[in-house]
Amino acid sequence: GKCVIVCPADALALPNKPAKSKEELDPEAGSKLSIKDPQPDAIKDYAQGNDKKPISAQAKPVAGGDVWSGVWVIIEYMNGKVAPVSWELLGEGRKLADAIGCGLSGVITGHQVDSVIPEAFAYGAETVYVVDHPILKDYRTEPYAEAITDLVKKYQPEIILMGATSMGRDVFPAIATKLQTGLTADCTVLGIDPDTKLLQQTRPAFGGNIMATILCRTRRPQMATVRPRVMAMPDRVDGREGETVREEFTLNESDFRTKVLEFINTDAKSAFLDKAEIIVAVGLGLAAKRNLVIAEELADVLGATIAGTRGAVEAGWLNHDQQVGQSGVTVRPKVYIAIGISGAIQHLVGMETSDFIIAINNDPEAAILKVANYGIVGDLFQIVPALTAEFKKRLQ
Ligand code: FAD
Repeated sequence: GKCVIVCPADALALPNKPAKSKEELDPEAGSKLSIKDPQPDAIKDYAQGNDKKPISAQAKPVAGGDVWSGVWVIIEYMNGKVAPVSWELLGEGRKLADAIGCGLSGVITGHQVDSVIPEAFAYGAETVYVVDHPILKDYRTEPYAEAITDLVKKYQPEIILMGATSMGRDVFPAIATKLQTGLTADCTVLGIDPDTKLLQQTRPAFGGNIMATILCRTRRPQMATVRPRVMAMPDRVDGREGETVREEFTLNESDFRTKVLEFINTDAKSAFLDKAEIIVAVGLGLAAKRNLVIAEELADVLGATIAGTRGAVEAGWLNHDQQVGQSGVTVRPKVYIAIGISGAIQHLVGMETSDFIIAINNDPEAAILKVANYGIVGDLFQIVPALTAEFKKRLQ
């Protein structure tokens, strides 16, 4: 039962063995938990099934559909900056709210966040809920999950969206667990079923071989995360006004188990890959690491960033933070040049919304050519140097 009381999202339960109280455990018990200290009966109950369903299957629906109304976007504000995916989701949220016939709101949690409120209106929020408190200055799972969960319980939105960023991937499951509702992570398409008005949450499934559309029929709110750059950035209309609702944050520092000591910035390449305007991406068609130079020369001339497929990463030609696709980064550059890339679905989901795609492949049937605006069928070892030479002439 030691893990039960330390879970920040109350996600665990031992139906047969009530968890020990905090007082019964020594304060460091969680970190000392080891395989010498299992609870065999409880583990057996789960393993054998008996009538012990996981807690989520036992719980009652939070509430019926009728009282839950409105589309919310959680606006991610960290270190003085809003994650642009928040605005992309306000654009998408607008379409969903219009299809249902309900309002669109933004939620901002943090400290000294007032400068973000007019921006949220500019990107389409009609109402902005604000929880502003020194405890929320730096992101931590527990306080953020508490603040947002309380707001949701009070105002009962029907749909909540957040970016599938590090913060969204961390806090959204905690909130969904607290609310005992469903969450679909990493959606690539969202829509509203015209008959039921349910949120259609579409994402790659079974290793990306199919696109699954997931519905959350009996619980509210319906929750989804979407990766940055999958949805289009909406137009910004400065001066647009809306309603601001400020809510108190009543918890104390002693209610939380973690402290932020320091933020250390990463200089990882992925930190800017998703913002690159021109990407030259390579695949296994390049045949060997030494041939990477062909792509690098083209990238130099165009001022582009080098990226690639999982194949290229697994071959050791690129770092993992340069991988585009389902298990890599999602990109939406102005120009994506795919060199020797077949166009597997797991790669396409990470780049197919690029503004303009140029693919070079010697197989006329390659899937990448179907999503490309320009497809060049031929040997990359002839075509890429020729392109580089031509761009050099024109750009220098
Ligand atoms: P290949 O499929 O081998 O394609 C090479 C291409 O180069 C071919 O189309 C060939 O015609 C062409 N070619 C060869 N020689 C030449 C030449 N001389 N001139 C021109 N063209 C040439 N993949 C990703 O990219 N990103 C992901 O995030 C990702 N996640 C995955 C997650 C899961 C769960 C799974 C199962 C797979 C994932 N994959 C991912 C792998 C994916 O399925 C493919 O295997 C991978 O994208 C293929 O990489 P590729 O296009 O470089 O290689």
